[in-house]
Amino acid sequence: MTGDSRIGIITDDDFSSKNVPPYPHPTFLSYESPLRIKTILKFLEIKKVFMNERVIKIEPIPVDESILSLAHTKYHINSVRNFSKRGYGLLGDEIFITEDTFELAKKAVGGTIQAIKSVLNSDVNQSFALVRPPGHHALQEKASGLCIFNNIANSIIYLKKKLHYNKKIAIIDIDAHFGDGLVQYFYDDPSVLYFSVHEFDFEEGDIGFIDELGEGEGLGKSINFPIPMNTSDEDFLEFLDILEPVLNEFTPDIMIIAAGFDLYFADPIGNGLLTSISYYNFTEKLLKIAEKICEGKLVFILEGGYSLIGLPHCVYTVLKALIGEEYEPPIFEKIKFSTEAKNGDISKIKNSLRNLLADYWNSLK
Ligand SMILES: [Zn+2]
Repeated sequence: MTGDSRIGIITDDDFSSKNVPPYPHPTFLSYESPLRIKTILKFLEIKKVFMNERVIKIEPIPVDESILSLAHTKYHINSVRNFSKRGYGLLGDEIFITEDTFELAKKAVGGTIQAIKSVLNSDVNQSFALVRPPGHHALQEKASGLCIFNNIANSIIYLKKKLHYNKKIAIIDIDAHFGDGLVQYFYDDPSVLYFSVHEFDFEEGDIGFIDELGEGEGLGKSINFPIPMNTSDEDFLEFLDILEPVLNEFTPDIMIIAAGFDLYFADPIGNGLLTSISYYNFTEKLLKIAEKICEGKLVFILEGGYSLIGLPHCVYTVLKALIGEEYEPPIFEKIKFSTEAKNGDISKIKNSLRNLLADYWNSLK
């Protein structure tokens, strides 16, 4: 399919202009800013990505509140709406609200639904939703970790409940952080596989460890691959040794990637040491697997990623891999780091996870 596939990009100018962090000086909260999308779109323009006839730009449409309420409590939806009406406020620990937060967050869910539908309907072969705010930390009842509504969970529940979609879905979450909101929606659902690779503090411990495997019929369908801080390109893709056999056995109808790029070495929040080549290699490999088992149906949804220098390259390299073209990393990535992975050993984690999963997956016995 590579060579003549069509790739949908779902975004619009609202994502690069609205929901501006209301802080005069940079803080953790202000990393989630319109500049993220603005720099991506500018870079894609310079690289003439939208001139490629295989790349189709799709305008996102905001969802209405009845769709939000499939995945969120009335109280949470009302809070975001009311704070936005007021024009400002801090919701929970890590969420700023502006006058356009509610509208933009509804459009982020809408764009995610369109990204998935455009692939399911075969309008395009793969898609990438360049939307914000991100979603994978958002819970049913509250915003969390820079996320307002859970874009991916809300979209899947919409497909299941409103469009009566009943096939198997694999979510692959490569954000630096564990998708603690996203995992909860499908924890006992055997039709949705959640696989997350994320940085982990092996000294302190945290949620998102290898022994959280799902519940009831969903047992074995939540898989966490925690990696040490300072993981580099050389080690990162080891998680594919677990993911690939699991996907081959699970045979999803579609794969949705929670595409966070905050393991990038220059990211101000994440602690990874990845360069853009890891995201190219990951996408190339996943596309091959998807072509074998689900007609290449891959949907990327932007989650985190806050390096304004690196983020455009990370998104661009995913698109290059989907288009099937070679990729030359930017010269500034040649800065070499000597820091080694701390507090953990990826092969040990991989072997322990493989042993745990052998009860649920024949291919890992
Ligand atoms: Zn993150």
